[in-house]
Amino acid sequence: MINDFRINSFSEYKKEYKKSVKDPAKFWDKVAESFVWKERWTKTLDYNFENADFKWFEGGKLNITENILDRHLEKNGNKTALIWEPNNPLEETRIITYRQLHSKVCQFANVLKNNGINKGDRVCIYMPMIPELAIAMLACARIGAVHSIVFAGFSSSAIASRINDSQCKVLVTANEVYRGTKPINLKAICDEALKDCPSIQTCIVYRRAIEPTSMVGGRDKFWMDEMYKVDDNCPAEVMDAEDPLFILYTSGSTGKPKGMVHTCGGYMVETAYSFDNIFQMAPNDIYWCTADIGWITGHSYIIYGPLMCGATSVMFEGIPSFPDFGRFWEIVEKLKVTHFYTAPTAVRSLARESLDYVEKYDLSSLKVLGSVGEPINEEAWHWLNDYVGKGNCPIVDTWWQTETGAIMISPLAGITPLRPTFATLPLPGIQPVLMDENGKEVETINEKAEGRLAIKFPWPAMARTIYGDHKRYIETYFSTFPGYYFTGDGAYRDAMDNYRITGRVDDVVIVSGHNLGTAPVENAINQNEAVAESAVVGFPHDIKGNALYAYVILQDGIEGSPELEKDIKNEVAKSIGAIAKPDKIQFVPGLPKTRSGKIMRRILRKIASDETDFGDTSTLLDPEIVTIIQKGKV
Ligand code: ATP
Ligand code: MG
Repeated sequence: MINDFRINSFSEYKKEYKKSVKDPAKFWDKVAESFVWKERWTKTLDYNFENADFKWFEGGKLNITENILDRHLEKNGNKTALIWEPNNPLEETRIITYRQLHSKVCQFANVLKNNGINKGDRVCIYMPMIPELAIAMLACARIGAVHSIVFAGFSSSAIASRINDSQCKVLVTANEVYRGTKPINLKAICDEALKDCPSIQTCIVYRRAIEPTSMVGGRDKFWMDEMYKVDDNCPAEVMDAEDPLFILYTSGSTGKPKGMVHTCGGYMVETAYSFDNIFQMAPNDIYWCTADIGWITGHSYIIYGPLMCGATSVMFEGIPSFPDFGRFWEIVEKLKVTHFYTAPTAVRSLARESLDYVEKYDLSSLKVLGSVGEPINEEAWHWLNDYVGKGNCPIVDTWWQTETGAIMISPLAGITPLRPTFATLPLPGIQPVLMDENGKEVETINEKAEGRLAIKFPWPAMARTIYGDHKRYIETYFSTFPGYYFTGDGAYRDAMDNYRITGRVDDVVIVSGHNLGTAPVENAINQNEAVAESAVVGFPHDIKGNALYAYVILQDGIEGSPELEKDIKNEVAKSIGAIAKPDKIQFVPGLPKTRSGKIMRRILRKIASDETDFGDTSTLLDPEIVTIIQKGKV
């Protein structure tokens, strides 16, 4: 790969890690030196936890797109940057080289300029997983505009609130999106949203489908028409390291979405560094991350990280179940994917289906598997390892957040010894700690530690603020444990210092005075062969204070029964203790999930407690499931 910071052995990892803790500035200086800067930084790090003020590579001047595009042209211009795989396998795969991507990005950057976009202006992008989404985001970066990508499954009110929060001037969208069998009219959703968005002056529409598209005169313009008006010559804007690169709203599983602001320099350095070291790609490998670019995973590990390293990255428009549940594996075989990075929720949904779907395809190209988004449970881990990786592919379980910008805790593929369901060790430069309720760091005693996960020292890719609300940024992340960044997650640590993330700390229920994490209870329930997936929450109980309520999805073709209920309860009692036995078990056809596949536990908690005000449900994948679960409440 293009940079020279690759770690090649576990002993080297340990050496680098030590160096990074001893002298973080020196460590990151060295990493940063392998990028193209227009001017070198004068101060590596300046920070103050109290005001949550963090500056990396101050005085440095750069443009991230020069590291993604221009830099590769001379030697790797004809290398494939993006492989686009359409929703419908009958449509053609698109191959885009670095040179072609450079040209399109520059051209669309000129379109944005032509439409009044200047450095610092915010541009909302609401597009399906098509190459034009990547082009639009990098075009913003080229001219120093701040992109705010909104996942193309969100509702009109979710778009409007995000556009208004950051006062975007332009909206870039497509007329339709295909996901599975049903086309969705994105433009109509935008029209609805734009009724309440006075800051938007122009809406640029890419024609994904040949359908007639309603256009509003003076405001709406077609992508193609705009592209004809400009050439592809667009010098990269000179950015300060601390200038904003993008805003990304968190998925909202815990409340009102927060517009996390990421900046140019630190984000560039750390996303490339982490990608290179975690995935350990060889020059001709093919990398596929199944996330959507609307999430941080797509930002950092479909586009920015891989392309900075000169990798070939696959973009997939569709879903794992269309035309059937073999789609992922069909693509792996067809494109000879070597690195496959996905989410536990996808793994679980595929593991429910017949193994024939997996076994039908040749997966021998695979070298490395990855997981992100939530704790991966034992069953899913082993399924992925046994049936997809055939026992030969290290699984990198990568823990991080929208707020952290880059992966924080993860094995380095083929280097870090694995432990199933453990995210293992921090990347060099990352200093995690576990905290107790009194705000003291937890020591490892009897080879084990447990607590709230916090980070003790700043890292370059961290978000710098919540757009327009620095006070909320301080309160949410820096006030629980003064002098630390608080992640909101709980974790264990073993004798080898491996971390296992147990989930959000608000997913802990106090039953008869015992602190019970809901994740281990779910794990125990999932041990039952009849169970596909489960979610456990607490509800008020006269005697116990709280009791556990389990929502259980069964494997295809299996019906719930009182015997099965009993079996499940016994299993929980056996693996954790009688105290963890759920009081109630409800068999459900599905769970309320965010568009990124996370269970919205706050809704399940409300159903279990007979509450009916569910708050903002605009980020739900399938809002109807809420009513179905409510009706079947036990
Ligand atoms: P919101 O903060 O708005 O509620 P969110 O936390 O779901 O949304 P993300 O930033 O995408 O949005 O997700 C980060 C969270 O996902 C982490 O805090 C953690 O709870 C979970 N997570 C991500 N990766 C892993 C992993 N490998 N293992 C365990 N948990 C993970
Ligand atoms: Mg979060």
